[in-house]
Amino acid sequence: MVELRAIADATMHQSFAGDVYNSAVYLKRCFPEINASIVTAVGQDNLSQKMRQAFAVEHIDTNMVFGHDSKVPGMYLIETDDVGERSFTYWRSDAAARKVVSFLNTDVIDTLSSGDMFFFSGISLAVIEPSARDAFWQKLEQLQKSSVKIVFDPNYRARLWRDEVEAKVNFEKAFNYSDILLPGIEDLETLYNVDSAAAVIDFCQPYRFEQLVIKNGPGSVITFDGDTAVTHEITPVTNVVDTTSAGDAFNGAYLGAKLDGQDTASAVKLAAKAAGIVIQHPGAIIPADAFAAVNN
Ligand code: AMP
Repeated sequence: MVELRAIADATMHQSFAGDVYNSAVYLKRCFPEINASIVTAVGQDNLSQKMRQAFAVEHIDTNMVFGHDSKVPGMYLIETDDVGERSFTYWRSDAAARKVVSFLNTDVIDTLSSGDMFFFSGISLAVIEPSARDAFWQKLEQLQKSSVKIVFDPNYRARLWRDEVEAKVNFEKAFNYSDILLPGIEDLETLYNVDSAAAVIDFCQPYRFEQLVIKNGPGSVITFDGDTAVTHEITPVTNVVDTTSAGDAFNGAYLGAKLDGQDTASAVKLAAKAAGIVIQHPGAIIPADAFAAVNN
């Protein structure tokens, strides 16, 4: 999406963001040697061109960034009031990205099938048009038959769904297709009333996840590989500036580290460090030089 951040009266800072994109950015910044592609639809307008360029600047492959003939990208505005409280306004009901499923032909699915991981989120799911969801599940079923690992972050945003029932029906399907789940406790608490890592693990028993990585803000990260739960302590950040993409940065660094062959404990350590840096700066995508501290 196009991100606008009000920096003074009638002055906006314009950038690009979106949960899956944010994760790809931080994955690439941590692991430049890993290939990451983004699958989305933009328009034919100038801003869409700039968006593609921004993806390329972050070394994200744009071969699966499709150009819709008439739609344009979605947009959101972040405003901060006098006491530092942020509010978001969205224009995305007619965004090009809502049409992405129509571009997922056999070649695209073959390309995705040959990858190591396919990552999607509850926001991706909410945004694609309801009429395209059956087609999306069919594509995901094809991916499931390949060796690609399917990774899902529920990232529940109530206002993107018609109601909780619609969200739950779709999450249920996503859970069934996924190998790795990266939930934040808060997301599942709102929707399913599970309010602890132990409750999330119980909740996930009926599914076939090979790994759960449970995030809880400044609290410990809990991982579960089907046997025992492991607690990973993290260092809480005191000067939090903007938590917008904490979970996204965590996901990108975590998945990158796993693809790099690291064990779960090292991957969580890096992911928590990445998220801890990101929340000390405004905006979803922080400057590369500020993020470079992740390597120290
Ligand atoms: P959340 O999506 O809020 O659960 O946060 C995702 C990840 O960001 C957490 O698992 C932490 O690694 C990190 N994080 C979020 N908030 C904080 C904080 N206040 N201090 C340190 N790390 C945080």
